[in-house]
Amino acid sequence: MSSATVHTVSSASPIVRQMWAGGPLRRWSQKKTPLTPMGYSSGFVGAYVCGECLAPCEGVYELREPYKWVCAACKPKLERVKGGRR
Ligand SMILES: [Zn+2]
Repeated sequence: MSSATVHTVSSASPIVRQMWAGGPLRRWSQKKTPLTPMGYSSGFVGAYVCGECLAPCEGVYELREPYKWVCAACKPKLERVKGGRR
């Protein structure tokens, strides 16, 4: 029991943030990181994040009902949930 190592919480670690009201989720951080390499107005952004399964993905699709940005895997699932016409 000698040294207590203090790890400062880095403000640079990416968080998941909504890009704009009603917009898609995306990894975002104040500083450039390997996960967020692209500069974006007030910080840096990386992969999009699915609004359904919350997994990072290459791109997200905009759904109308429910209004959501989802990955390619979730898109057909949610569209199917909506069901067919009677
Ligand atoms: Zn998904």
